[in-house]
Amino acid sequence: MIDRINFLKNEINKHNYLYYVEDNPSVSDYEYDQLFAELKMLEMKYPELRTPDSPTQRVGSISEKFLPYKHKYRLYSLDNTYSYDDLIIWYEKLSKDFKDNVELVCELKIDGLAIALTYEKGIFTTGVTRGDGVTGENITTNLKTVKAIPLKLFKDIDVEVRGEIYMPKSSFEKLNEENMQKGEKLFANPRNAAAGSIRQLDSTITAQRDLSIFVYNSSFENIPDAPKTHYESMMYLKQLGFRVNPNIRLCKNIHEAIEYCKEWETKRFDLDYATDGVVIKVNKLAYQEELGYTARAPKWATAFKFPPEEATTKLLDIELNVGKTGAVTPVAILNPVNLAGSTVARASLHNFDEIKRLDIRVGDDVVIKKAAEIIPKVIKVVDNEYHFDLPVYENPKACPACGARLETRPDEVSLYCSNPNCPSLLKARLEFWVSSDAMDIDKIGPGIIEQLFDKGLVRTPLDLYKLKKEDFFKLDNVKEKSANNMYMSIQNSKKQPLSRFLTALAIKHVGKETAEIIANEFKTLDRLYQTDSFELVEIQGIGLKIALEVSEFFANPNNREYLEEFRALGFNPTQEVERISDVLKGKTLVLTGTLKNMTRDEAQEIIKSMGGKPTSSVSKNTSYVIVGENPGSKLDKAQNLGVIILTEDEFLEMIKANSPVEI
Ligand code: NAD
Repeated sequence: MIDRINFLKNEINKHNYLYYVEDNPSVSDYEYDQLFAELKMLEMKYPELRTPDSPTQRVGSISEKFLPYKHKYRLYSLDNTYSYDDLIIWYEKLSKDFKDNVELVCELKIDGLAIALTYEKGIFTTGVTRGDGVTGENITTNLKTVKAIPLKLFKDIDVEVRGEIYMPKSSFEKLNEENMQKGEKLFANPRNAAAGSIRQLDSTITAQRDLSIFVYNSSFENIPDAPKTHYESMMYLKQLGFRVNPNIRLCKNIHEAIEYCKEWETKRFDLDYATDGVVIKVNKLAYQEELGYTARAPKWATAFKFPPEEATTKLLDIELNVGKTGAVTPVAILNPVNLAGSTVARASLHNFDEIKRLDIRVGDDVVIKKAAEIIPKVIKVVDNEYHFDLPVYENPKACPACGARLETRPDEVSLYCSNPNCPSLLKARLEFWVSSDAMDIDKIGPGIIEQLFDKGLVRTPLDLYKLKKEDFFKLDNVKEKSANNMYMSIQNSKKQPLSRFLTALAIKHVGKETAEIIANEFKTLDRLYQTDSFELVEIQGIGLKIALEVSEFFANPNNREYLEEFRALGFNPTQEVERISDVLKGKTLVLTGTLKNMTRDEAQEIIKSMGGKPTSSVSKNTSYVIVGENPGSKLDKAQNLGVIILTEDEFLEMIKANSPVEI
């Protein structure tokens, strides 16, 4: 047994070093937690084998890069579990000591880096990492670059707050993308990116990174009417000017807390920051004091950790897909595996450079992860000795669909099919044309496109509009009603606004949002025919690359001919919105989160009809940010910049009060 315990201690210490000091873990948190739980269990069974230097008796570790700083109040870790049953056991055990019901507070467990901030008479003086809990690293200068950390509070009090520094998921993806382009180190996850950014010796690097904070705990000194519960103290921190996570909930008992955990197991994917679980805390501060601490963690709190978002499985094959631009992308075909609640059999491999970089070979065991929690991607190969016996993956030379030669394009990593009539490319274009982002022809899905194409009825989007009702009877199991529906949904799409038409054309670099900007500016196809890159680049949100692509597209005689054919079929796309009021004239509005009374598109139409301009990113020029449920990082940004924030109801009230017609 002692051998196993020593093995576990060594393994955990090695991982601790890589994680806490190098910010570069080599195993997933789930794998680490399994080792940790096994060691804890063995030490409980054989207490004589538990030594004071065991990782179960300690918190984190510190590096020598920074000046050490002894904490005034010790910082702890948290016990954790992946099981609801364990939560019930934990609650029943602690409740026994109290006569009245023990209320709990649930908070999201932000996956970042723990820090302590000290304020004297309301002024930020010192910021320190958790370190080993007793001593941390003094990173005050770096923390001063984080805009969400107030340098001065709204009250002149002495307080120490603890919180989590994190990097929004979108900024993490962007940082890794940039690092990949520069050939620099990639961070394994947003937590490591945040820790690596805040623990920089050069604070100008920290200042360039998008970091934020949520505070979750505090110790006050000599304040009158000090909060008596954790929940009250969090509200007090908010009043002082700190960022407190809005998704905090007071729960009567553990069952309500479990409901919260279940709710957030899926809802967390809509957030722009990583959460790895829920922290459940006893609400009454007097009870917390009575319950106290173990060597490592408070007894009055525990963390429920969400099931792993990473999984290991076998790579069975690499499939090649041809997209609407002709780019050939590799897709991993996997032995099906459960990942964050769903079965995954396919995952993204990005591009052929990425396969080379990770040295992925068919037959490897690979680690997959939900990227931005939507599309799973392969992130690494498991270190197995048989990896080197597998053949190295060779990039394809021919298109998997038509056999044509694959070619590279300047400054691009993708391989492209050289055949403009490649059937896969044509089908992908048609699928995109009818998709909800483009012309939104909802009665025609990929299956119908496949049949229409294979039966020789359509090759290009133009052909869709030449179809007669009878043509649909040639498809499998199509009767009068569905033939009519399909025909009508195609014909009705001729009335779609210019922005959708531009999106559907799939001009390089022109996605839905860019198309919207261009359409709002030019309003008609004729105006677009007359434009050039100089005019385009003047428009806010249009860079030189886009300007060049768009002007070249409209100057190309073949494209003109193509567009004229649409016109001959009855298209006249414009971007006029009926103006019903001027109440939002000159105002820029940003939407974030899910709206309950309208879709995003509807909200944007309302804004435009009242003279406002809906945009996608928050800046100091934004007039209002309208916040729905589960808002993303735009809300954080708005708060930081002091932009006016409206709930959906407040927005509706505002426009209803100013609208001559019923909305
Ligand atoms: P932890 O991250 O599991 O939990 C404690 C921490 O949670 C606190 O210190 C605090 O920083 C944070 N936290 C976030 N939101 C909070 C909130 N609302 N209230 C209170 N605290 C909140 O514990 P830890 O000691 O920091 O690290 C241990 C964990 O780190 C392991 O369970 C594992 O997941 C991970 N780890 C991984 C590796 C690896 O190699 N993959 C190595 C070491 C540690």
